[in-house]
Amino acid sequence: MPKRKQHYATDEITVTFDPNICIHSAECLKTLPEVFDVSKKRWIRPENASAGKVVETVDRCPSGALRIESEPNE
Ligand code: SF4
Repeated sequence: MPKRKQHYATDEITVTFDPNICIHSAECLKTLPEVFDVSKKRWIRPENASAGKVVETVDRCPSGALRIESEPNE
């Protein structure tokens, strides 16, 4: 059974994660460890970095498991 897509939001930005397509490259963990930390239950904390940095890191996800659902307006 496919796993549910996860949503992590701040006032500025919403990051989604689809566990079914993650290839565990750890790119996100290496690029922005203050936001992406698998040792935490809520493992994506977009509030811990600027929205710009979060977008940049999500863009580097090789599988497309991470996506930006709503972006900052500016
Ligand atoms: S960068 Fe993407 S594919 Fe790699 S571990 Fe993070 S979510 Fe998974």
